[in-house]
Amino acid sequence: MKTTKYQRGYGLGNYRGLRFAVLTMLGGKCARCPQRNLRVLQVDHVKEDGKRHRDQLKTKGGITLMTAVLQEIAKGHSARFQVLCANCHMIKSQERYAA
Ligand SMILES: [Zn+2]
Repeated sequence: MKTTKYQRGYGLGNYRGLRFAVLTMLGGKCARCPQRNLRVLQVDHVKEDGKRHRDQLKTKGGITLMTAVLQEIAKGHSARFQVLCANCHMIKSQERYAA
């Protein structure tokens, strides 16, 4: 699929822009380590309800989920999420199964 100049931009209408906005609103830093590189930061569902959230939205993630996260933050529910870097996110998932 060809992308337009607009879609390649950094507005809220595209995934990269949306993800950037969400990560910045959630602090723009990993909750567990000093990592601040947005390229490796991810949104984590603090209470492990990410699967339920995705099922509710009937999505596997991507722009639909990121839009919903932004809406939750706008409603004042930002405590539901935290920013983790890819490493810390992986470690957190592993801890969950090791417990
Ligand atoms: Zn980290």
